[in-house]
Amino acid sequence: MKQTPDANNNAVRASADNSIAGCYRDMLSRIKAQEQRFGRDPDSVLLLVVSKTHGADGVREAHAAGARQFGENYVQEALDKIALLTQPPQPLTDIIWHFIGPVQSNKTRDIAGAFDWVHSVDRIKIAQRLSDQRPEHLPALNVCVQVNLSNEDTKSGVALTAVEALCADIVKLPHLSLRGLMAIPAPCKNHDQQRAAFQPLAALYARLQQQYPSMDTLSIGMTDDFDAAIAEGSTMIRIGTAIFGARS
Ligand SMILES: *Cc1c(COP(=O)(O)O)cnc(C)c1O
Repeated sequence: MKQTPDANNNAVRASADNSIAGCYRDMLSRIKAQEQRFGRDPDSVLLLVVSKTHGADGVREAHAAGARQFGENYVQEALDKIALLTQPPQPLTDIIWHFIGPVQSNKTRDIAGAFDWVHSVDRIKIAQRLSDQRPEHLPALNVCVQVNLSNEDTKSGVALTAVEALCADIVKLPHLSLRGLMAIPAPCKNHDQQRAAFQPLAALYARLQQQYPSMDTLSIGMTDDFDAAIAEGSTMIRIGTAIFGARS
């Protein structure tokens, strides 16, 4: 079952056959509907398919339906999956891989070698290592700064007040490209409260964009809050459950 509770009374429309491909296509049309509803430009919101805990076959099915951008949280799981997916006889070579989980410093070399994006940079030490360890033959690693919107000590992310300083340090690193901001707000079911949680981030993003022309990505919105995120200017939503079903 790919149905999930929905925050804002929009009927959750799992695809007719409830397949991964069907749910992926259904997500695309839900994005289009939210872009129209909130006056966003067509195709201004990219769908990142979060495949963590799901196998290589699931990635292949979403890929066959047109998905090219995938997100993973766990380094070893991702490396194993990428190895399977790039094997003959049907290697997939056009996937753009996004690392979206917490980054441990002993994993930066693997991440810098295997991924195209990292959404979860929240310390200069990690940014420095990713830049140093980015292989020379690859283009700059795209990074987003992860922001902690709720200031909970346990959560990853840098405080809103510390984002500017971290960005100023990151843009000096030669093998990183600063693309934007990412956040995971505390879960909440009410659409207006979800929007309110995103607002300070959206305002900061707009300000930083003036300063850093490479910034074009506001990575907010998951299965339960993507329409609020689109309303607040998300350019990339990260969706797992609505495409693959609940994770066990
Ligand atoms: C798991 C995860 C997602 C996807 O969440 P769903 O609610 O399943 O859509 C998005 N972003 C991050 C950082 C995640 O860890």
